[in-house]
Amino acid sequence: MTPELDLGSIEERLRVELAEVLAALVDVADSAAIVALDQSAVGRVSRGDAMQQQAMAISRQQRSDIRRRKLDAALNRVAAGSYGMCCECEVTLDQARLDSDLAVVFCIDCQEERNS
Ligand SMILES: [Zn+2]
Repeated sequence: MTPELDLGSIEERLRVELAEVLAALVDVADSAAIVALDQSAVGRVSRGDAMQQQAMAISRQQRSDIRRRKLDAALNRVAAGSYGMCCECEVTLDQARLDSDLAVVFCIDCQEERNS
């Protein structure tokens, strides 16, 4: 009764999102570099502001990096033929769950267990 997953289009969508995340990572690296430049060029940029901007850039970068790894892992599962299964209990994942996040790794039960 499990509807066949359209792996071709899923892989395509994963690759599109991966490209976006990689582009965002480059942007963030640029803006972190700009903060550093401003600080040395102007000299009177508030150190607190610069550090806050940098901290925000770094946290965006970390989130993007986690997303990149999730997308990479999802693409690996497509290639390995294990895409669409919970990585913990190997139950078939809900279509709705995959629709909301193509790179989702666990079923709801396993996810909740990990969060608790
Ligand atoms: Zn599970």
